[in-house]
Amino acid sequence: MVQQPMSPNSSNQSEQSEQVEKIYLPRTSESENLKKIRHTASHVMAMAVQKLFPKAQVTIGPWIENGFYYDFDNPEPFSENDLKVIKKEMAKIINRKLAVIREEVSREEAERRIQEIKEPYKLEILADIKEEPITIYHLGNEWWDLCAGPHLENISELNPKAIELESVAGAYWRGDETKAQLQRIYATAWESPEQLTEYKRRKEEALRRDHRKLGKELGLFIFSDLVGPGLPLWTPKGTLLRSTLEDFLKQEQLKRGYLSVVTPHIARVDLFKTSGHWQKYKEDMFPLMADNEEAAAQEQGFVMKPMNCPFHIQIYKSELRSYRELPMRLAEFGTVYRYEQSGELGGLTRVRGFTVDDSHLFVTPEQLDSEFLSVVDLILSVFNSLQLKNFKARLSFRDPASDKYIGSDEVWDKAEGAIRRAVETLGMDHFEGIGEAAFYGPKLDFIFSDALEREWQLGTVQVDYNLPERFDLEYVAEDGVRKRPVMIHRAPFGSLERLIGILIEEYAGDFPLWLAPVQARLLPVGDTQLDFAKDAVAKMRALGIRAEVDTSGDRLGKQIRNAEKEKIPVMAVVGAKEVETNTLSIRTRASGELGVIAVDEVVDKMKNAIAKFENF
Ligand SMILES: [Zn+2]
Ligand SMILES: [Zn+2]
Repeated sequence: MVQQPMSPNSSNQSEQSEQVEKIYLPRTSESENLKKIRHTASHVMAMAVQKLFPKAQVTIGPWIENGFYYDFDNPEPFSENDLKVIKKEMAKIINRKLAVIREEVSREEAERRIQEIKEPYKLEILADIKEEPITIYHLGNEWWDLCAGPHLENISELNPKAIELESVAGAYWRGDETKAQLQRIYATAWESPEQLTEYKRRKEEALRRDHRKLGKELGLFIFSDLVGPGLPLWTPKGTLLRSTLEDFLKQEQLKRGYLSVVTPHIARVDLFKTSGHWQKYKEDMFPLMADNEEAAAQEQGFVMKPMNCPFHIQIYKSELRSYRELPMRLAEFGTVYRYEQSGELGGLTRVRGFTVDDSHLFVTPEQLDSEFLSVVDLILSVFNSLQLKNFKARLSFRDPASDKYIGSDEVWDKAEGAIRRAVETLGMDHFEGIGEAAFYGPKLDFIFSDALEREWQLGTVQVDYNLPERFDLEYVAEDGVRKRPVMIHRAPFGSLERLIGILIEEYAGDFPLWLAPVQARLLPVGDTQLDFAKDAVAKMRALGIRAEVDTSGDRLGKQIRNAEKEKIPVMAVVGAKEVETNTLSIRTRASGELGVIAVDEVVDKMKNAIAKFENF
């Protein structure tokens, strides 16, 4: 799969050239070499552990995205110091340049050898291997394990300086709490020490940017055990952030002829039987709320909405529409509920209740191409205002071999054709994601790659001939004949929760001025400057600038430290001199010390910068 970034923009290029040398980190799933390195390193680690801890038994040790792990049955948990000793032992073993030798044996022979070394876990693993012959891999003639490969030919191809043992965690055999408690060692191995250094740098950076940590520090959202997992609660500051994003998009939509609607959070399950969600999507929905057992047995009752589309369809359908009314663009910040597995929930990027910046466009077939293009244009302008540069477009099409879709091949071909035409008209770099379509239609998804080269799906546009069919939607065409409209589903943000999680990490908590919940804080040196500071804040607020005064009474140094910790874009110090000259002493996160500036000028500059989505 070729994934090309979209035309890189200039500011992004200059950022990259500032770095001494950009080190590419291959993904395990894409690199056969990395798979071999990690697989081989995991055997070397197991050999080292068994050498140092003769009671340790090996179980499984697969590669994972950023390294590998190995689960051991050992009477004592491994300590941090044990990891150091194990790593040293691994270097010694690697130095001995042992060959990795493949051997094929019969099932009986494999069983005999396992009995000989008394490793009962291997017997269970052997029972799971269906194919014969059984493959055994030896390191020299000193150590062996059941394995399917792939491996390096000689362990000397491993570079001990590119290997790191990272942490120890408890794990159950087969992930089953009733079975033996094992010790899992997480480790990583790369092609070169430079790659390992870059990996560690990114890991640290990811921790620094973690939106769960920053969200707490910046006071944006909380979770509550009593409310439940995957259900974030937005604090006043976080709510300001949300409504700034909402207001921004609503303004854009108003300019582009969208109509706002509001729909309920629950509906009769029949609505979702008609749309096909109940048949195709039930597993991801919260369970049915039925009045009694009989209703439950007949699958009658209410459900939380997993999507907004069928509601908007009801509004469209409430009157006979004429071609003159089309395109009709119904928009709603609609909160939906999906029953994600609790193991999959983490921060804001995977939640059970979230708000989609949803819209459904009802268009004539002739309007489809131009409407689709204008939606893409809206999405690109949203990304531009959010200062998100590094994304690419994925054509998310159906997998012809799967039966998870509704509708005929003919309408799917039509819908996929429309998306392909749009991307070609715009000359956008893109790649295909077969099997990534929604069950009712293909999508154009925008995949954003963040500062650490992690990929996130943001905005989406979908072409849909199927729901208009299922709900029997019509409009009266110019010739008086009733015809079927086409639907476009679109959400530039995707969901507010996910977007905010991604933005926190991308900005490392430093929101652009227009988005920051608190845009300016005035820091009075003493109580005598308090009234002046309050007046200046009132001027700013009158123009819509989110400003506040530090009324803690703390000394200036502490006020500055607090404002910095909260990453407030503009700090304005007010001392006796500032009061006398009607000025503010300005320090911004984007530009540093700006010196003493007249109050009116500060207000003007902030207002202009905010309107242009620029920093100050
Ligand atoms: Zn192996
Ligand atoms: Zn929809």
